[in-house]
Amino acid sequence: MAEPYLGNAKSTSEILKKYDFVFQKRFGQNFLIDEHVLEKIIDAAEIGKDDFVIEIGPGIGTMTQYLADRARQVLAVEIDKKLIPILQDTLKDWNNVEIVNQDILKMDLAAAAEEYNGGRPVKVVANLPYYITTPIIMALFEENVPLDSITVMIQKEVAQRMQASPGTADYGALSLAVQYYAETKIAANVPRNCFMPRPNVDSTVICLKKYAVPPVSVKNEKLMFGLIKASFNQRRKTLANGIKNAGFLSFGREEVEKALTDCGLPVNIRGEALSLAQFAALSDCLTEI
Ligand code: SAM
Repeated sequence: MAEPYLGNAKSTSEILKKYDFVFQKRFGQNFLIDEHVLEKIIDAAEIGKDDFVIEIGPGIGTMTQYLADRARQVLAVEIDKKLIPILQDTLKDWNNVEIVNQDILKMDLAAAAEEYNGGRPVKVVANLPYYITTPIIMALFEENVPLDSITVMIQKEVAQRMQASPGTADYGALSLAVQYYAETKIAANVPRNCFMPRPNVDSTVICLKKYAVPPVSVKNEKLMFGLIKASFNQRRKTLANGIKNAGFLSFGREEVEKALTDCGLPVNIRGEALSLAQFAALSDCLTEI
């Protein structure tokens, strides 16, 4: 086995010093320095010898080493070009890692899955840069990337929002989207001292296992997510007002009120009270209008 593994403060500091590396706040750079947390992430992702893994933001390659030990192949996508020579050094003993210098948000991940995995479902694993948590997760779900699961370190509050139930303050468009696409499981809560430098927030590792078939069926997915967006854009308004005011939907108040009544819901209900199944039913009622 290659040495040294980076999942500790000493080897991380040595590498940073060797390359005179300066942390870039704008890239959300907080490197993991705790091997127990790294092992928890890899275990939660259930990485095996057949797996092709996309790692978002490998940093200096800490988690990449652990992933490469377990997976068939790892594609490590890093935006910061200053980290590329470091990755080439720290990962030189693994021949199953491809390092790509790119913005993950601009990458065609479906094409990568096709090229590296014959179009079969991929596992995404990351200690995410927190500024792109929602866009990257939504892109992975919506852009037809063949996906098995996403196992990610994210801000604790965002993990709570993903798992929130109707009527709670944390419940919103992200909760509904995640719950439509995936089964969620918290793998670990991670304190700030497991990172270098320490972030200002607490973190959680969450595993999102994509459903083969979503838990609710809906005739027009796009319409359902439009209704969800309209309802949470104007959280304090009634759902009927939110939908009527949304520039991207063309239903009048009467149509919405009729659909709500047909679904057995009060006409003055707020969107935050509706479950995923109720949004799907409302969307189907409006599809028929
Ligand atoms: N995986 C490493 C670890 O656990 O120690 C680093 C994690 S650090 C929280 C986030 C990493 O994502 C940084 O290396 C950062 O440069 C990289 N990054 C930030 N934005 C990115 C983007 N849009 N595309 C790819 N990588 C990005």
